[in-house]
Amino acid sequence: MNDIIDEAIASPSEASIANVLAFAGQDQLELFELAKRLKGDRIFVRAEILPSNYCRQNCLYCGNRRDNGAMKRYRITGRALSDVTDAALAIPEVDFVSYLMSEDPGYPFDQLCEEIRKVYAAGKRVNLGLGDVPAEVLRKLHDAAGGEPIKYTLKIESGDADHFRRVKDGYKLSARIDALRRAINAGFEPCSGIIVGLPGQDTCMIARDLMFLKDFPGLAQASASVFSPIRNTPFGAFPKGNESTAFNFLALLRILRNDRNLTTPISLYMSQEGRLAALEYFADTVTVEMMPAQRLPKFPFSIFDRAAGSYNRIPPQIRRRVDELSLELNNCRWHERY
Ligand code: SF4
Repeated sequence: MNDIIDEAIASPSEASIANVLAFAGQDQLELFELAKRLKGDRIFVRAEILPSNYCRQNCLYCGNRRDNGAMKRYRITGRALSDVTDAALAIPEVDFVSYLMSEDPGYPFDQLCEEIRKVYAAGKRVNLGLGDVPAEVLRKLHDAAGGEPIKYTLKIESGDADHFRRVKDGYKLSARIDALRRAINAGFEPCSGIIVGLPGQDTCMIARDLMFLKDFPGLAQASASVFSPIRNTPFGAFPKGNESTAFNFLALLRILRNDRNLTTPISLYMSQEGRLAALEYFADTVTVEMMPAQRLPKFPFSIFDRAAGSYNRIPPQIRRRVDELSLELNNCRWHERY
């Protein structure tokens, strides 16, 4: 066993975790192999629906930020929302339907309750990521699942309070964590994660984020996306984050939590090579993009070709890798997992 990994497991601390986050080469492979043994062979498929990109927040790294006048805005509601849910439900392999959107207080959340009921009636589950919404809205959304498990994602992005406030234009980390706790109090399974490589972030901050997530009660999903500079944002000229650090973060988190109920999605922002490695070693959730980015500006007029709503929307390299690794699709077999 690798001494540095041993130390991070035996006494996880900012220093011992930071050492692992810097892994490359043989050390990294040993870390990955250990994570792989704990990950299991089951793969989840999530259909990702993005109902709105209006946002009241102004995060410096995000194209959806309030001040980005160059962003064409859309809201998918009514029949269009119902159609895209139906298309996701028509994909037999889909386990989760994820509704992920910006912080849009003007969104008609009652319509999402209808969609949630439909998803659960079809034997699938929902993961919501709607930002910081009021408790009464959360309760209604939770109740629409009829007592079945339902997830809520609120990434902390950066767990350092000063850094968080800087990259999120004054929004406070404590408010974010309160929002996550409100979702838990409403009955949701909490999901969270960070962005690796944000300007102003250092390895010690990432190590502390890992400790925060390691100890977060009931964490049902963890993710680490990699900062990617976006045009028309204040961080548009900064370099991309380090994918390898994000991988080490997720692999070590999986080892430290050692919890089969923790799912880890493959980020759509990873390199192709990175996605394949993630699938093999530490991630267990692949995504069917119901709304490819190039189609988003056309909303709500043309959502997508409904006939294309199939497992084949997952890139062929990923599907091939699932077969090569003999991974098994979960296919909504919930009782074997929970
Ligand atoms: S990161 Fe989320 S909350 Fe921040 S501007 Fe983007 S969509 Fe809004």
